[in-house]
Amino acid sequence: MREGIHPEYQEATITCACGSSFTTRSTAGSFNVDICSECHPFYTGKQRMVDTAGRVEKFRQKFAKAEKIKKDKADREEAKAAEPSQTDAG
Ligand SMILES: [Zn+2]
Repeated sequence: MREGIHPEYQEATITCACGSSFTTRSTAGSFNVDICSECHPFYTGKQRMVDTAGRVEKFRQKFAKAEKIKKDKADREEAKAAEPSQTDAG
């Protein structure tokens, strides 16, 4: 092994946001991860939303807003259709 070109391959403890941790080796040292094999849906077999940054909640809010606009528009058009039209007389 050539001297001076290899990073230090040290022991590292990887800690997950779910609380589990394991020891391995890494040139980056110990670090934290958001998801691991203990809690990832693929390994647990459970359907669970992985939502660390609140993106799912954000999307739901956005979607609800869009649905409301759509509904309001439909209601307006319904009201318009119900009242007698004056433009197509003739
Ligand atoms: Zn985990």
